[in-house]
Amino acid sequence: MTDSLISSAYSQALEVIASVEPRIAEATRQELTDQRGSLKLIASENYASPAVLLTMGTWFSDKYAEGTVGHRFYAGCQNVDTVEALAAEHARELFGAPYAYVQPHSGIDANLVAFWSILANRVETPYLQKLQAKNVNELTEADWETLRHEFGNQRLLGMSLDAGGHLTHGFRPNISGKMFHQQQYGTDPETGLLDYDVVAAKAREFKPLVLVAGYSAYPRRVNFAKMREIADEVGAVLMVDMAHFAGLVAGKVFTGDEDPVPHAHITTTTTHKSLRGPRGGMVLAQEEFAADVDRGCPMVLGGPLSHVMAAKAVAFAEARQPSFQTYAQKVADNAKSLAEGFLTRGANLVTGGTDNHIVLVDVSGFGLTGRQAESALLDAGVVTNRNSVPADPNGAWYTSGVRLGTPALTTRGFGHDEFDTVAELIVDVLSNTQAGTTKAGDPSEASYVLGDGVADRVTSRSAEMLDKHPLYPGLVLS
Ligand SMILES: *Cc1c(COP(=O)(O)O)cnc(C)c1O
Repeated sequence: MTDSLISSAYSQALEVIASVEPRIAEATRQELTDQRGSLKLIASENYASPAVLLTMGTWFSDKYAEGTVGHRFYAGCQNVDTVEALAAEHARELFGAPYAYVQPHSGIDANLVAFWSILANRVETPYLQKLQAKNVNELTEADWETLRHEFGNQRLLGMSLDAGGHLTHGFRPNISGKMFHQQQYGTDPETGLLDYDVVAAKAREFKPLVLVAGYSAYPRRVNFAKMREIADEVGAVLMVDMAHFAGLVAGKVFTGDEDPVPHAHITTTTTHKSLRGPRGGMVLAQEEFAADVDRGCPMVLGGPLSHVMAAKAVAFAEARQPSFQTYAQKVADNAKSLAEGFLTRGANLVTGGTDNHIVLVDVSGFGLTGRQAESALLDAGVVTNRNSVPADPNGAWYTSGVRLGTPALTTRGFGHDEFDTVAELIVDVLSNTQAGTTKAGDPSEASYVLGDGVADRVTSRSAEMLDKHPLYPGLVLS
């Protein structure tokens, strides 16, 4: 697609939007300007291609299509069937998965589908036996009571939040921490690394129905073959949530034991992080779970977002190109360069480095909380997010860490040297920021004082790099 086509597509779309609500057109233009002008280091974000973005803006949004391909509860779904079947086919080919369910609206929704599929598949309740024999309407209140009891008392073992796990892996504020008896495994207090022997010992003692692997803030690779061995030993289902690193799996950076798809019973993911697709989720599964996963809508999902499924198909087609493997390898190489950049300048990293797309900086050495560091960096045009470090003394709100990721800037074309410069700029900001005080003069976990001239110095150095690697280079809005 040529630059002028993309430019006129968006310029005209914005004109149409402006004719109804100009402030939305204006905010949309401003968002592009802001994204172009900042160093986006949020590890869960990326920039989808214009083809993916344009695919989302169509009349597929207007169609209801509850059900599955060829088996819908609404009439007139022939084109949605084409879209969903193609997205699923691309997903199966891309990940080598026996089965793919592309309806989940987000990563959290994909996990809900997985949890309910596992319960339906593995919990041997009288309810399920009766359900197979009878119409649901014939079940008695006592049957439902049994169901609630059995489904509500299963066990889940996941990675703890402060070790890098996700809140859907059994953390109390999420429903996964309420519907399951949950326990968590952490990382080694010395090295910050996963210790498989500790995971195995916990699993033997706790005997979970579901063993969850996967993370949002762990800067290392996971051996999923070992995780499966642990699951098999205790009779658990291995569920891997690859929401963060699906792009590294699709791009064949994680292969063999590091590729979750052949080892997990069920693999869930987002499609918008390192995978660089539209905002959404997906479930991949072994055949034995396919029928249960297919019931995701209406079990826990609303009607499928057909326009987003169409964009997933486009994104997966992109990810099947050899150029995506080059991209994924650069994401990992750039993370190494970023980590080296911090280490040579004396900063502390959780686990001492990275071998995926994430770098987790422990900012306590700068005398700052994660909250102060995040805000000071934002003042200098560096967009990050604060994150707990293992056994974080500042808790989950203020935290002691800043999480960085390379997928977005790698999409813009940043390479080895630029990521070293990014580390230099971040260290410049953090070492020239002082923790502030409250109005009463007490130490504050939130306020901070940025040194004179730092923001200007960092902003102009970033602007040079951002100008050299423009976002959507040919896109000029009229
Ligand atoms: C981002 C993330 C999710 C949630 O994705 P949403 O699309 O925001 O719902 C789930 N699991 C993990 C591991 C994640 O990193």
